[in-house]
Amino acid sequence: MPNAPSDADARRAVKPVICYPTETLPAPDLPMLTAARVRLTKIGEVTVPPREARCFEAPAGHFFRITSVEAPQVGDLNLHNATDPTERFYSGKARALHGTHLTTGGRMWSSFPHLRPMATITHDTLGWYGIDGFGGSVHDVIGTRCDPYTHALLSGGGQYHHCCHSNLTRSLADHLGIPLTEAEPLVHDVLNVFMCTGFTRDTGQYFMKASPVRPGDYLEFFAEIDLIGNLSACPGGDCGSEHSSDAARCAPLLVEVFAPAEGSLEGWVSPLSNAYDRSHGR
Ligand SMILES: [Zn+2]
Repeated sequence: MPNAPSDADARRAVKPVICYPTETLPAPDLPMLTAARVRLTKIGEVTVPPREARCFEAPAGHFFRITSVEAPQVGDLNLHNATDPTERFYSGKARALHGTHLTTGGRMWSSFPHLRPMATITHDTLGWYGIDGFGGSVHDVIGTRCDPYTHALLSGGGQYHHCCHSNLTRSLADHLGIPLTEAEPLVHDVLNVFMCTGFTRDTGQYFMKASPVRPGDYLEFFAEIDLIGNLSACPGGDCGSEHSSDAARCAPLLVEVFAPAEGSLEGWVSPLSNAYDRSHGR
C-alpha cells in the first residue's frame, strides 16, 4: 500500500473488541418459549403474492411464522407497534446488538425512544446454515430493502414499481387506510427473511446469492408487543441474480399467526418502553 506507515502491520494487528457485549441485554426466556411453541393454535393466515406485500396482525404473546411455499423466495419484513406505527423495527440496532444475521434467540428491537424487543425469533429451520465460505449467511439486517430510488439511480432513471419498498408502502397504506405519502415514511429497513447475503472480503461490497430456503422452511417469531407485520415477497425471488425487475422467478410467502395454550407463557410480561428519561442532559 502506498504511504503506509512503518508500523502499519502492527496497527492492523490490534485485536478487535465486541462493541456491544450482550451479557447485560434483557434476554428472552427461550426455554419457556420453546415449550410454549409446541402447543399452538392457528388463528389466522395471510398469503403474500409474488412481487406484492401484505400486512398481518400478531397480538402480544402470540407467535407468527413465515414459510416458504412453492419455490425459494426471499421476504422483506417490517414491524410496527399496532397502536403507534411510528414505533418500528430498528434494523441497524439489531445488527449492532446481534450481528449481521438473525436466528433463533435474536430479537427485533424497536426505534428510539422505545428501543425494546418487538419480536423474538423462536425457530429457524435454516439455523443449520451458519456462515458459508463466502462469508454469507441467512436472514440479514445489513441490506435495506430493494427500492425504486436506488433502481432509478443505477438504471439511468428507470421506473419499477414492485420493489419491496413500494410493495410495503402500498400494503401499509391499505392496512392503515392512509395515503401512500403518509405510509411511505413509516416504511423502514427490513429483516431480509431467507435472504443469503454478506460482504465480499476483498472489496467489502454487499453481496447476495441464491437463498438456501426450500418450500417448507420457516422462520418463527414471538410477538413481544401488539404488532403489525408487513411482508413483501421480493421481486428478486431467491435473490440469486437480480432484483428490481420482473425477471426472476417469484413465489408467494405464507404468514401464519398462532395463539399459545392457556398458561404456557408463565412469567412473561410484554416489555415496557426504554428506561432512558429523555432529558438529554438538559
Ligand atoms: Zn426486495
